[in-house]
Amino acid sequence: MERADQVIMNTYGRQPLVLVKGEGCRVWDDAGQEYLDFVAGLAVCNLGNAHPDVAAAAAAQLTQLVHVSNIYYTTPMVELAEDLVRLSFADRVFFANSGAEVNEGALKLARRYSRERYGEGRYKIISAENSFHGRTFGALSATGQAKFWQGFEPMLPGFAFVPFNDLDALTKAVDDTVCAIMLEPVQGEGGVNLPSPDYFQGVRQLCNDKGLLLILDEIQAGLGRTGKLFAHEHFGITPDIMTLAKGLANGLPMGALLATDQVAAAFVPGTHASTFGAGPVVAAAAKAALGHLSRPEFLAAVRTKGDYLHKGLLELKSQAPVIKEVRGLGLMWGLELAQEGAGLVTACRERGLLINCTQGNVIRMLPPLVVLPHELDHALAVLQDAFKAVFP
Ligand SMILES: *Cc1c(COP(=O)(O)O)cnc(C)c1O
Repeated sequence: MERADQVIMNTYGRQPLVLVKGEGCRVWDDAGQEYLDFVAGLAVCNLGNAHPDVAAAAAAQLTQLVHVSNIYYTTPMVELAEDLVRLSFADRVFFANSGAEVNEGALKLARRYSRERYGEGRYKIISAENSFHGRTFGALSATGQAKFWQGFEPMLPGFAFVPFNDLDALTKAVDDTVCAIMLEPVQGEGGVNLPSPDYFQGVRQLCNDKGLLLILDEIQAGLGRTGKLFAHEHFGITPDIMTLAKGLANGLPMGALLATDQVAAAFVPGTHASTFGAGPVVAAAAKAALGHLSRPEFLAAVRTKGDYLHKGLLELKSQAPVIKEVRGLGLMWGLELAQEGAGLVTACRERGLLINCTQGNVIRMLPPLVVLPHELDHALAVLQDAFKAVFP
């Protein structure tokens, strides 16, 4: 840790842990201490750490073909794209390496589509306050949290923000400079904020009426996290553009930008590219991961376990008045506290449970989707003990 502080740029408030091994829902530190991991790489290791099928797919590909330029065809990317198209609203996929990167692609695609279809002047993207779309300039400009802009201004022109889950505010913000609306189906980093059940139907209707593209950032909430393969399936709507990353290759870096044929047609050779995008190793890993994540029985189990965790968290709330609200869907949960949450994160870590705190006072839990019922029980028992210790 001291060596890291000498040579690594100081961009993270890291927990004082050196992790050396992971398996399923557990990770181990360099002293051999075991932890139940309810961070899961921040919704990345949805199948648990070091999943054998993902590892085998990547390993086989590593000794077969590691990388070639995207000026050639390779098989893993085609097979993965076919799976994503079959499993979603989309007709076409563009691959990159991270969430921010595919959100950049989404912003570029939306603007270019709108330019071709409607001419100049329609470039603005409306997104939500408290949203999170990534750290590159485009994605950051679409992120509705000024604290992340500090020192980097000016942000890109052509972005506007409205409160999440407020259809009136969104409707009022639309004028003839707007080309797209970009939203997370459930806000993750912003504090696990859920929309009301009919919000996205209203957003979809607004987009249809005004000829706007709906971009859904499913980077955190997608890929089974909420108990459906894609979170928008809860709302009975489909977007025009969707972005995926985090859990896509279960720990290897990969992002995907998905769109309908009509919208995707705005990208032609030369308009967008990624050197590493859809590399054979990550594509093979993602195909193996998606095979598990998309199984209906797997997704049903996520919903069942999510309901179980919800019940346990409500019980916890009844004993710990510091908990103001329990919010979540599937296996994506937040506990909003009346006080700072950092002390609770430490207390849980000292008791062998890794959790995360966002927005200063929202305890966020993103267990691997393969979590077992007895592991949920264990986590709830640790939480109960930690709450007693920190908020007596
Ligand atoms: C994590 C996240 C991103 C950014 O992904 P990176 O891979 O870190 O660039 C974008 N949107 C959402 C909703 C996220 O949770």
